[in-house]
Order: sequence, then C-alpha cells, then structure tokens
Amino acid sequence: MQSQDDKKGKLYIIGIGPGDQELLTLKALKALKESDYIIGHNRYIKLIEGIDTNAKKISKGMGKEVERTKMAFDLAKKNTVSLISGGDPAIYGLLGLVIELMMKEGNIIDYEVIPGISAFSVANIRLGCPISNDFAVISLSDLLIPWAVIKKRLEHAILGDFVISVYNPSSKGRINRFKEAIDILKKYRPDCWVGIVKNATRSNEEEIICRCQDLEKYADFVDMSTILIVGNSKTEYNDIMLITPRGYKL
Ligand code: SAH
Repeated sequence: MQSQDDKKGKLYIIGIGPGDQELLTLKALKALKESDYIIGHNRYIKLIEGIDTNAKKISKGMGKEVERTKMAFDLAKKNTVSLISGGDPAIYGLLGLVIELMMKEGNIIDYEVIPGISAFSVANIRLGCPISNDFAVISLSDLLIPWAVIKKRLEHAILGDFVISVYNPSSKGRINRFKEAIDILKKYRPDCWVGIVKNATRSNEEEIICRCQDLEKYADFVDMSTILIVGNSKTEYNDIMLITPRGYKL
C-alpha cells in the first residue's frame, strides 16, 4: 500500500469558464472531482458549488494571489491540488504567476493546465459577433501595471482599428479610471458601437449595447463582473446584434 510519504502530488491549473457549470470542460470536471484540495478566489469557489468532489476547498480574497499559489505548490508536493481561475487561467488568471514562480524557484513541479472559456468568448456571442476578425484584449486594472501603460495600449489598439475586449473595466476604487478610458475612446471613436455584458452565462446576466459617446451613462452599471466589447470602424448594429463584417461578398 502507498503510504502518505510516498504519495506523489500533482498541480492542476484550471480555467473554470465564465460561470455556467455546463461550460466547464470534461477535463476540468474530472480534475476537480479527483482533487484533494481546490484553491481559488472566493468568487470562483462559489461558481463550482454543487460539483461532486471530496476536495477541501480553500478560498482566499483578492490580492492574495502569490500566497494562494505558494500554498498550492506546497500542498501539491503530496496531494492532488486544483488551483482555479475564472475563464481561462492564462488570461488575467493564475497561470502566468505559476510559471513565473516555478522559474524563479528553479523548481518545475508536476503540473497540468486545463484551459477554460474566457469571458470575451461568451460576451462576444451574447452580442452577435463583434469579434469576427483581429481584436485586442486590454485590462483596465492598474493594480499590477501603471495606468500610463494601460492608456497607451488602449490608444494604440484604437489607432490600429482593433475591436477591443475590455476586462476589469471598473471597481469601486477605480471608477475614475473607467471614465478616463471612456474619454480616450470618445476622442477617437465617438460613434462606434459598444457591447457591455455583465455576469455572462450566470443567472443574473445582463447586456447593454450603446454608442461610445453614451457610455458614460452606464458607468455605474459597469463593475468587476462586466466586460466590454468596443466595436471598430466597421462594426454594425441592427437593433438586435452587433457584427463586424469579415469582408465576404454576400
Ligand atoms: N481569466 C478570466 C478573466 C479574469 S479577470 C477570463 O479568462 O475570462 C476578471 C475580469 O474578467 C472581470 O473583471 C470581467 O471583466 C471579466 N469577466 C470574467 N467573467 C465574466 C463574466 N462571466 N461576465 C462578464 N465579465 C466577466
């Protein structure tokens, strides 16, 4: 019999998708079921409630990412551990940090990444298909990146006429940042269409489509569970759906 001392651990880094449990991959579900520990932000632990697993769930709040990841490394020496992110773990999730830490510590542990459906993917289909061609992805969170860098990236994505997915658009402490981003968008693309999707695939999902110049009206609606898709010069709206034509002759 294998004693606890011989037991080899494994770390899964899992993307649990945008919220609807039917959008979890079969691999993610299997890993969650066979885990001894599931570690994640409170919000994501809540999203996997009801999944049949004996794992001990450890939730930590925002800003504890490094602590959470180090704890996962430690536990994964002898246990099967799932470190969960919402959406996909590589998109503003924990995978980058996991790889950085492993490189820094020079210690590559046994790990497997299970991708997930990112918020832009589901927001896009809720709105029609504003993303149908090249697009940029920008987070407005300046917790880890200077605001000047974010503004520059936003400006260049606009100048490149990219459709833009905007993550982390606003939070209680950062509402002025969102207003500044609106000003930049309005300067270059006042007439462009914008889709706002809140709580995509969750029971309280909501959508708004408006012109860029009217975005400010919705500043209070936009929160940390909201993603924006900013159309480019080609994006059209027919009162139901947004589409950025790909150029087919129809
Ligand atoms: N790894 C995640 C993103 C984490 S950053 C992914 O791949 O989707 C958190 C941000 O993602 C939120 O502030 C919001 O902008 C966006 N987001 C995540 N899930 C969402 C959902 N269900 N509906 C709308 N936006 C969502």
